Amino acid sequence: MPIATVNPATGETLRTFDPIGPEETERRLSTAYATFRTYRTTSFEERAALLGRAADLLDKDAEEIGRTITEEMGKPLAQARAEAAKCAKAMRWYAAHAEELLADEHPAQADVRDSGADRARVVYRPLGVVLAVMPWNFPLWQVVRFAAPALMAGNTGLLKHASNVPQTALYLEDLFRRAGFPEGCFQTLLVGSGAIEGILRDRRVAAATLTGSEPAGRAVASVAGDEIKKTVLELGGSDPFVVMPSADLAGAAKTAVTARVQNTGQSCIAAKRFIVHEDVYDAFAALFTDAMRALTVGDPLDEGTDVGPLSSEQGRADLEELVDDAVRHGAAVLCGGRRPPGRDAGWFYEPTVLAGITGSMRIHREETFGPVATLYRVADVDEAVAVANDTSFGLSSNVWTRDAGETERFTRDLEAGGVFFNGMTASHPALPFGGVKRSGYGRELAGHGIREFMNATTVWYG
Ligand code: NAP
Repeated sequence: MPIATVNPATGETLRTFDPIGPEETERRLSTAYATFRTYRTTSFEERAALLGRAADLLDKDAEEIGRTITEEMGKPLAQARAEAAKCAKAMRWYAAHAEELLADEHPAQADVRDSGADRARVVYRPLGVVLAVMPWNFPLWQVVRFAAPALMAGNTGLLKHASNVPQTALYLEDLFRRAGFPEGCFQTLLVGSGAIEGILRDRRVAAATLTGSEPAGRAVASVAGDEIKKTVLELGGSDPFVVMPSADLAGAAKTAVTARVQNTGQSCIAAKRFIVHEDVYDAFAALFTDAMRALTVGDPLDEGTDVGPLSSEQGRADLEELVDDAVRHGAAVLCGGRRPPGRDAGWFYEPTVLAGITGSMRIHREETFGPVATLYRVADVDEAVAVANDTSFGLSSNVWTRDAGETERFTRDLEAGGVFFNGMTASHPALPFGGVKRSGYGRELAGHGIREFMNATTVWYG
């Protein structure tokens, strides 16, 4: 894949970049490693001051970097600005909390004695250089939710960003440099995915985190496994959005639209499968479809746009294939199901609702990375749980109910890294984020995220 900015709203190539060669890669690797040796000894206070400065700079840059993001991957500008603000908030959160999250742990004195020690404690020490392989869909956020805890913990980072967001990737390196982080704390490697194996096998790289598709996760985790290096994988999702009879239907339908079309539907935690109890199915389907149909598709730089273009021509083609396959196998198109008429340039697709989904359709099994929703009618809680879990993914889930018994049942039985009631899945710095099954392993954010790339060291005093 060429490293280039191609405007998804027009299809025009705006800038291309040459990948760095082996010599520059080596220079950056050795700088990351050398910097780690000293950076790891800095105090939480020093790191927090640096990260706080990065947050302030990001807030100032929100409009400009927002436009760059929109130009590179096509999300509506307001959402790009909001992404920058969310990143600044996460930086401040980790600056404020990292020290307490990584505080020494003291086992019960009776257990310490039982181990034969006088005293014992667990200290968290940073692992070293962490390679971050990241996707384009939240080109700031995916990186910052790794970088903020990593830098607060004393690790250093190397970013291999998606090839279609090179300007955002370079911006991030520049942001941390301007904030005052020592050279080598955070660097962008403008390389194609073919260069990743060599970098990951380098002895100076301690671990890797990847957010992206299943094939990319498998490739990186295989190499890391071969090298016995720790990985965190945040992969795809096909999150259920369950609506039960006791739900606030209007609220559920309104939130369902946002949950499906945020970021033009290109979000791992977007609700993708809408599983509705038969008692409220018709009413929900009507409210939801009307609201999806009413969305404004258009230029992502226009403030009135709800849904922009897909990020790439291939992304739209993949989505179209899934919809066409479903229709061929008998799905009903309640709205959308086509490119917006009259919009020839750019990779737009109408918000779409499909009903009558069966197990023979690819869309039942695969992730829809675009504004396409599938509706399922279920008879009771058992069937709702069964349909929700009938997927290889397990990222998050959403349930609308006011019934306490149902709440307990879904909490116990949904196979996912999150269960969000009467709302939609969203990440927050204080809440762990990650999946099970083929959505990956490990957690980002909160204490769980910052501890992923630490050496939890037992210190025992005889
Ligand atoms: P992708 O193709 O897997 O790309 C993600 C990153 O991996 C890019 O930097 C890409 O580089 C790199 N990559 C691709 N193949 C690789 C390989 N064989 N070895 C090493 N690196 C490789 O993902 P995408 O399709 O752009 O992004 C969408 C996917 O990400 C969806 O499945 C979505 O659900 C998932 N996602 C998950 C989360 C989460 O938190 N769980 C969040 C966001 C997105 P190039 O660009 O150079 O190919």
